[in-house]
Amino acid sequence: MSLLKSIPKIDRFINNKEFKGFSVSLITKISKDIITRLRNDILDKKVNSINEKDLIQTVLKEYADLTSPSLQSVINATGIIVHTNLGRSLINEESFNKAMKVATSYNNLEYDLEQGKRGERYSHIVKTLQALTGCEDAIVVNNNASAVFLILNTFSQNKEAVVSRGELVEIGGSFRVPEVMSQSGAILKEIGTTNKTHPRDYENAVNENTSILMKVHKSNYTIEGFTSEVPYEEVVKIAKEKNVIDYYDMGSGHMIDLPFNLDQVEPSILKIMQYKPSLLSFSGDKLLGSVQAGIIIGKKELIAKIKKNQLLRMLRVDKITLALLEDNLTSYLENNLDDIPTLKMLNTSITELEKRACLLKESIEDLCSCEVIQTQTLIGGGTTPNKKIPTVALSISYKDYKANRIEKLLRAQNLIIRIENDKVLIDFRSIKENQVLQIANIIRKVFN
Ligand SMILES: *Cc1c(COP(=O)(O)O)cnc(C)c1O
Repeated sequence: MSLLKSIPKIDRFINNKEFKGFSVSLITKISKDIITRLRNDILDKKVNSINEKDLIQTVLKEYADLTSPSLQSVINATGIIVHTNLGRSLINEESFNKAMKVATSYNNLEYDLEQGKRGERYSHIVKTLQALTGCEDAIVVNNNASAVFLILNTFSQNKEAVVSRGELVEIGGSFRVPEVMSQSGAILKEIGTTNKTHPRDYENAVNENTSILMKVHKSNYTIEGFTSEVPYEEVVKIAKEKNVIDYYDMGSGHMIDLPFNLDQVEPSILKIMQYKPSLLSFSGDKLLGSVQAGIIIGKKELIAKIKKNQLLRMLRVDKITLALLEDNLTSYLENNLDDIPTLKMLNTSITELEKRACLLKESIEDLCSCEVIQTQTLIGGGTTPNKKIPTVALSISYKDYKANRIEKLLRAQNLIIRIENDKVLIDFRSIKENQVLQIANIIRKVFN
C-alpha cells in the first residue's frame, strides 16, 4: 500500500514548472482525472510503480488533445471537387472577409436601413436571385434537406405528393426521399415503375387530394436500358393543367451550364426557370459553390405561404450564411465565375492541370518515382451521377510500399489522396493552385 502513499498530492503536482503558461483550471481538472485513474489502477494491481515525469507527460498530452482544433484543414487530392466528407464547396477568401466584417460587427440583418425599422432577414438575397434567375421570390434555409421538408410540410400535410418510383432515392447521410416525405406529413403517391414513368402517370395520379407533383434529382444513381422519365418541363405543364403545384428538388442545382457537355443530362437552374416552375430547391454548397444552405425559389404566393410556416423559424439561416451566399450570387450576376472556387476548379484546363502536375513531379522525383497521367474523376456530392470528367494526376510510388501504406502516411499529414488500380494518385482537379509547394513539402517530409 506504500504505492498509494506515493501518489502525488494534487496541489503540489499542478504547480510543476512544466505546466507553466497553461490554463490552471484545465491542468487541475485533467490532473485530478489522471490521479484518480492512477489510484484505481494501483488498487486493481494494474500499476506497480509511479513515475511523476510520465504523469506530467500524460497530462500534457490530454491537454493538447482537448485544446487543439478537431476540425482542421486538409488538402483534397482525391479529384472529387464537391466532396461531402471533406466539406463540399470551398468559400472564396474575399467572400469570407466580407462575411467576417458583417459577423464581427452589428449589421442590418433584420433592419431596414432606409426606413429605420424592422427589416426582412431574407431580403438580402432576394433581389440578387430575382435578377439572376427571374424568380418572383426566394427564401433560404439551413440546407436543401430542410428545404424539401419545409415545402412538403407547407403544402402537402395530409395531402398527396406525387413522385415517380424511379426518383425515390436515398442520398448519403440517411436522407431517404420517402421517409422525409412521410415525416413532413405528406402522403406519398408513387407513380410509374422503377425504370419508366410517363406523362400519363402524372395525369392519372391527380385527384382532389393532390397537392404537388414533385420531381427529385436522382443525384447518386442512373438507370440505363429500357427507361423513360418525364422531363421537368412536362411536369410543369401537367401541374398547370391540373391546377396543382410543381416542385423540383434539384439537389445540387448548378446555376449555369456546366463544362464537358454535362448539360445535356443536367439542365441548369437558369434553363429550368424558362419553364416557369412553381418551386425549385437546391443546395448552397454543392455545384452552386457557396455555403451550406437550401435555396427555394419560385412563385410569390407560394413563398409567402412558406414564410408563414412556423418551421421556418427552426430552419432559418444566420448572418454569416446570408453574407456568403449573397456574395456568391453576386459573382454569378457579374459573371465573375473564377471567384467561385468550385467552378474555377471545374473549368481549369487539362493543360493547366498538367503544368501543376509536372511542377510537383520535378520537385519530388529525386525521392520517389512519379508519373503524370491523364485520367477521369467524378464531381461528387450527388451532382452528376456516373458522369466522369477528365483530369490529370500524379501517380507516385515509393520503394516497395503498398498504396494503402502511402495513403495512410500522407493522410497523417492531412493530405487526402485517391487510390486507383492499386496506385496512389494525387489528382489536381480538386487541388488549389497555390497548394503544389505544400504538397511537395508533405511528400518530402513523409519519404525522408
Ligand atoms: C444533396 C441532396 C439533398 C440534400 O441537400 P443538402 O443541402 O445536403 O441538405 C436533397 N435532395 C437531393 C436530390 C440531393 O441531391
